[in-house]
Amino acid sequence: MKTIGLIGGMSWESSLVYYRLLNEEVREQLGGLHSAKCVLYSVDFAEIEKMQREARWDEAGEAMAEAARSLEAAGADLIVLCTNTMHKLAYAIEEATNLPFLHIADATATAILANGHKRVALLATRFTMEQDFYTGRLRDIHGLEVLLPEEEEREIVHEIIYNELCVGVIREESKQQYIAIIDRLVKQGAEAVILGCTEIGLLISAEDCPVPVFDTTAIHARIAVDAALEKEVQK
Ligand code: GLU
Repeated sequence: MKTIGLIGGMSWESSLVYYRLLNEEVREQLGGLHSAKCVLYSVDFAEIEKMQREARWDEAGEAMAEAARSLEAAGADLIVLCTNTMHKLAYAIEEATNLPFLHIADATATAILANGHKRVALLATRFTMEQDFYTGRLRDIHGLEVLLPEEEEREIVHEIIYNELCVGVIREESKQQYIAIIDRLVKQGAEAVILGCTEIGLLISAEDCPVPVFDTTAIHARIAVDAALEKEVQK
């Protein structure tokens, strides 16, 4: 089994989910007492969030590169960045080491296409919804049509992520707000919804939604295990 290198802490609420899912998936695939070989580099999210807010992306890129180099030195064989938003800086990680980097948007798009969907709603941070690094990749590389919440809705989705989910607060009212936004996007023609932030799965699940849900955390953790076990990526 290969060793999975995790860049986490963004936030640790979702890194915890990654850790559980990686271990559950390895047990599922190998049975018995098997568990995931992994190394976690966990940042102080307050520092990173400030860099995001102040658009100090070069500095954030250096922080991600440093994390990747540390993981390589610690024996990681591949790298998993446990946040969608910071995939804006995927290039900095890819340049920092020669380790395989498992891109969360590619994994998610592969799962969506394998299930026959083309028009998908995306709920994520404002950075992920509004900048091209993510939606552009889904569109231009994978041919997906991405439906985004309206401006006001994007603000709601974003604020709930940073002010609640990333600090461990789960509120029924916020869940209902997310569901209302998803319902509206489904009426607009979305065939599926991407939970494009690694904490959203803490708030809503497949049962809450009228269309199939693609949880980036779960998909990413699964392909990481497949890569660690040197399997073909499962659809
Ligand atoms: N975990 C979140 C994501 O998947 C947001 C936190 C961050 O900005 O990294 O985008």
